[in-house]
Amino acid sequence: MEKTISIAVQKSGRLSEKSLDLIRSCGIDFYADSRVLKARATGFPLSFLFVRDDDIPQYVADGVADIGIVGRNEYDESGISLDVVRDLGFASCRLSIAVPHSFDYRGLQSLEGKRNATSYPNILSRILRENDVKADIVVVSGSVEITVDAGVADAIADLVSTGTTLKMNGLEEAECIYRSSALLIANPDLDDDCRLLLDRLLERIDAVMLARHKKYILFNLPAEKLDEAAAVIGGMKSPTVTPLMDKGWVSVQSAVDESRFWAVFERLKALGAEGILVMNIEKMTE
Ligand code: ATP
Ligand code: ZN
Repeated sequence: MEKTISIAVQKSGRLSEKSLDLIRSCGIDFYADSRVLKARATGFPLSFLFVRDDDIPQYVADGVADIGIVGRNEYDESGISLDVVRDLGFASCRLSIAVPHSFDYRGLQSLEGKRNATSYPNILSRILRENDVKADIVVVSGSVEITVDAGVADAIADLVSTGTTLKMNGLEEAECIYRSSALLIANPDLDDDCRLLLDRLLERIDAVMLARHKKYILFNLPAEKLDEAAAVIGGMKSPTVTPLMDKGWVSVQSAVDESRFWAVFERLKALGAEGILVMNIEKMTE
C-alpha cells in the first residue's frame, strides 16, 4: 500500500479554512460530503484528521497524526514538545491583559495579588513568573471576557485580534503579553517515508508562502531609465527586459516584495513607467 502522511487540522473554527486554503494552494484537495473525522486527499499521499484544535498537539505527539496545524498558543499551552516545522503566519492573534476601566493598570506588576481569568494558564503563569508577579489564575475554558463583570476575576488574559469583544464587555486592552499564529508541527520521530513526504509537502508550502508575499510587476519604460528602475526594484539579480518596437522603450518584468510594492510603484511611475500591470503570483521558488 502507498505510504501516506496524515495531518491534523481543526474541524471547524478560526484555523480551519485558512489551513485548508494553504493545502489546496499546494494542489491537494479532498472529497468529503461533510467534514467527517477522516478524509483521504487527492493530489498527494496525504490523509486528513479533522479534530478540535486543543487536541492537535497531543494527537501529533501520540502519532495519531504525523503532522498538524495549530495556533502557537495551543501548542505552547499544551506543554508538549514537538518539531515546529514552519510558522505559517495566518490566524495571528495576541494574548493580552485586559482590565475594566476602573483598573489603574501600570504593567504586569499591577496584577500582583489579583485574580486573573484565562484559558491559557500555562502561558500566563510562565509570563507572570518571568516578571516576578505573584497572582491568582482563574482557569476558564471560554467566555473569559465576562468573568470580570461576573465578579470572579479582577483582570483577564485573553486572545484578541481586533479588540471589539473586549470593548463590548466593558474591558480595555492593557498590554499584549504574547503573540501567536498558526504553526505546522510534526512528530519528532517520523519514519523515513513520512519525512520524505513531509519534505515534499514543505517544498510546496514554501513555494506558496513565498508567492503570497510577492507581486509580479510588468511595465513599459523609457530605455534610458532602466538602471534607475532596476535600482528601485532592487533585491533581485536582474529584471527581465524585453525591447519594444519603439526603440526608446523597453518592457520590464520582475517580482516585488508586497511590503515594498506601493513605494516601488510610485517611484517607477515617477521614472516614466507606463502600462504598469500587477499580478498575484501563485507559486514561486527563490
Ligand atoms: P475548537 O472547537 O477547535 O476547540 P476553539 O474555539 O478553541 O475551537 P477558535 O476560536 O476557532 O478555537 O480559534 C482557534 C485558534 O485561532 C486560536 O487558538 C488562535 O490560535 C487563533 N485565533 C486567531 N484569532 C483569534 C481570536 N480573535 N480569538 C481566538 N483565537 C484566535
Ligand atoms: Zn479549541
